[in-house]
Amino acid sequence: MTAPRDVGERSRALYERAARVIPGAVSSPARSLAPVGGVGPLFVERAEGAYLYDVDGRRYLDYLQAFGPGILGHAHPAVTRALADQAARGVLYGTSTPGEVELAERLVAGIGSLEAVRFVSTGTEAVMSAIRLARAATGREGIVTFAGSYHGHADAVLAEAGSGPATLGIEHGAGIPRSTLELVTTVPYNDADAARAAILRNRPAAILVEPVAGNMGIVPPAPDFLPALRRAADDAGSLLILDEVITAFRFRAGAVSDALGVRGDLICLGKIIGGGLPLAAYGGRADLMGMLAPRGPVYQAGTHAGNPLSVAAGLAALAVLAAPGVYERLDALGARLEAGLVAALGSTGVAGTVNRMGSGMTLFFGDRKVRDHEGARASDHGRFRAFFWEMLQRGVYLAPSPYEAWFLTLAHGEAEVDATVEAAAAALEVVRGLAERM
Ligand SMILES: *Cc1c(COP(=O)(O)O)cnc(C)c1O
Repeated sequence: MTAPRDVGERSRALYERAARVIPGAVSSPARSLAPVGGVGPLFVERAEGAYLYDVDGRRYLDYLQAFGPGILGHAHPAVTRALADQAARGVLYGTSTPGEVELAERLVAGIGSLEAVRFVSTGTEAVMSAIRLARAATGREGIVTFAGSYHGHADAVLAEAGSGPATLGIEHGAGIPRSTLELVTTVPYNDADAARAAILRNRPAAILVEPVAGNMGIVPPAPDFLPALRRAADDAGSLLILDEVITAFRFRAGAVSDALGVRGDLICLGKIIGGGLPLAAYGGRADLMGMLAPRGPVYQAGTHAGNPLSVAAGLAALAVLAAPGVYERLDALGARLEAGLVAALGSTGVAGTVNRMGSGMTLFFGDRKVRDHEGARASDHGRFRAFFWEMLQRGVYLAPSPYEAWFLTLAHGEAEVDATVEAAAAALEVVRGLAERM
């Protein structure tokens, strides 16, 4: 083992202070560099456009994008203006606001599965609340989910979760009642037959799925997968909950499920819809949403839910994303980056595969194609770790986990993409020298 890698002197000093008062020095475990062999997290004090600036004065081209919310680029003027304007009028009232009506109308108009919507603050709450509603509506308690998916950190969805828990090798988080885990059946992503069998056997309240998996790295659905889930849900009298927290507005100005032709009974949104501020939502069929308090018996609430600042940022972000050509541009950048990475893999002879959809992609090391959690898990994590540090040294910040995505934004240009490919080619030269599967 090599010594833990350091990102800089001032970062190290902050890490030492932070570690005394914040567990692992992070407010969310996925930010830690420990899983990739680092000391503490990156400490960033400023960001602009496509770049992060750390406390040691280093600049990084940002592909983390805060794990998904970033798509406009940092400090986008439309968002900072909207925030300043709202802040001057107060940030929280505990009443309804015109902004949340406008945002709800936009979402309902633009997303096929959404007839009514309720705002919350985090994706975790959106999923947790959608599950509660599904249980109330069906009178059942079971849930079917897919290994390697991430649906936030609520008890019920931390079984075989992807993303952060997978990075840390946490299969079932401690502190979760066994009785809760017993209600959850997890099947492999993209395995329509296994899913159908589990759904018909268990007749769950809900099937919870990411229509494009974003938390085992990017894994697109096989063509038959989502339609099969829809049919099985209908046959079993279960509700289909689409978790689009990471996918909505990432690939198109709306939900990816609409492009894929699948309708959810409920749908969860988050990340991009808040323009970088905490904002998430869940919604779906009007009859189901009508069961929520104060109209119905299903209780769900939030002091900061739909808060004016988040709504202002979200409206501003969605307005930018509604302009013509935005997603074509993001897709073209994604294609350029993918092609560059594939060429760099080819010229260096390092085995790897790139899964991409639009402006989201994951580079998996190893020979096999990745279409589920097993595939992501079997990829060469040792090579990923080495690659991560080689890229960081070259001023490119990736998510510190082989189970996450690279995200492009409107602030990334061809010059940034080409610089990234150049950095990757040099990094892969180093990675090639390493023994496989450390
Ligand atoms: C990020 C994410 C969540 C959790 O959202 P938080 O805002 O972090 O609570 C849920 N589902 C998916 C698909 C996500 O990517």
